Amino acid sequence: MPTPESAIIIGSGIGGPLCALALYRKQIPVCLYESRSSPETLGGAINLTPNAIRILAKFDLLPKLLSLGCSVTKLQFFSAHSGAALGTISFGSIEQYGFESLRVCRSDLQRVLLESIAEKGIEVRYNKKLVGVEEDAVGGEHITAVFSDGSKETADLLIGADGIHSTVRRSFVNPGCDATYSGICSAYGFASWDKVAKEGIEFDTTALAVGRKGSFLMSFCNPEKTRVFWAVVMAVAEGEVPEREDAGWRVRDEGRTKSEIVTRFDDSEKWRETVRTAVMAEDETFFFPVNELPAEGRWWRGRCVLIGDAAHAMPPQGQSIGLAFEDAVILARVLGEMKDEATVEERLRRYDELRRPRVAAARKEAAKSRESLKEVHWFVQWCREWLYWFFLAVFAKHSETAFMYDAEKEEV
Ligand SMILES: Cc1cc2nc3c(=O)[nH]c(=O)nc-3n(C[C@H](O)[C@H](O)[C@H](O)COP(=O)(O)OP(=O)(O)OC[C@H]3O[C@@H](n4cnc5c(N)ncnc54)[C@H](O)[C@@H]3O)c2cc1C
Repeated sequence: MPTPESAIIIGSGIGGPLCALALYRKQIPVCLYESRSSPETLGGAINLTPNAIRILAKFDLLPKLLSLGCSVTKLQFFSAHSGAALGTISFGSIEQYGFESLRVCRSDLQRVLLESIAEKGIEVRYNKKLVGVEEDAVGGEHITAVFSDGSKETADLLIGADGIHSTVRRSFVNPGCDATYSGICSAYGFASWDKVAKEGIEFDTTALAVGRKGSFLMSFCNPEKTRVFWAVVMAVAEGEVPEREDAGWRVRDEGRTKSEIVTRFDDSEKWRETVRTAVMAEDETFFFPVNELPAEGRWWRGRCVLIGDAAHAMPPQGQSIGLAFEDAVILARVLGEMKDEATVEERLRRYDELRRPRVAAARKEAAKSRESLKEVHWFVQWCREWLYWFFLAVFAKHSETAFMYDAEKEEV
């Protein structure tokens, strides 16, 4: 098959718009379909690592984003118990990787991506909830998206960028492959830095306080460093996950959830007040159980392919957005750069081959992080802290490989 002449993307979250830009560069006409009625404004401040920033720079999106977020060069680790500094790892460097990291609100990142696709005349159709996928015949030339309003759209290729609960995956690519609870919950919010107690707490841009009952991240998220984003990741037994409101990630009983978070860090002299004032500072806290997909799932079938969370959602390991961006770039490259005789199957197989090792490496980090979040006795925590230099050396090695990765340099 020559390069496809049309593509449908389901989902205009983060991976979808980036994929549209990558396909546009390969002159593949594309349209996005989104179930929501408008762009989502929910979400925390995400850290874009150098491998993700490298891609954003190629699409000329960096200047805008730099004016909205906070550049990050290191992640500083502290004991949530004693407050002692446990070590630092590089989170980016112009000399080493060409880029620093950037902490920016997810909603700002999404807005910048959507503005860029709008400038290029790429359309996003809202209120278009995909309910099914139809193939014309085995080895057929087209694929059709079916929407809840009864309408249908046909193209040469259908890309599922519809997130962790992907309908493209569940209805067509890998039926029965559902996300399951990972045992980890996360909560996040924002606070004005001037409202946070910071006696004895000193960090450059991003601090992670590791404790016996989870970890507490605090990071500036605007260029002026006046606003902090905080996030807690913690192990929570399945039966204890608080009830959520249907429409988003807010919890019903916010007061209880906030107190529960604060209690997890109350054996820490230095961090207790910082955690309390940050968590209590603003009204709204977002809380969500982290779900994940099995490692061996299918990522493509026929003329349909998955990218981002739809393919490989996993617990936090700092690379989810980078992986979605890389998927988008590699997919566009196999579609646009492989020789004309290559069939759609050969192209999507190559995409799969190229992406598995990166995703597997991230999954390994996610498994380690999950292990480290389980509640432990204070003595175990003490031993862990003593060995922290070793964990950080291993983590830094993995990060270095991930940060160096350049999706444009893969041989397609
Ligand atoms: C509201 C929201 C807030 C988030 N906040 C954070 C955060 O704070 N920190 C973090 O690390 N990660 C967050 N994530 C996840 C993170 O954005 C993803 O891991 C990452 O961006 C991968 O992006 P994606 O494009 O694969 O999926 P997503 O960003 O989840 O985008 C999927 C898109 O598909 C749309 N969609 C779903 N089903 C259908 C359907 N049937 N038909 C049409 N459209 C559909 C969704 O509405 C969504 O816009 C958030 C995701 C969402 C949706």
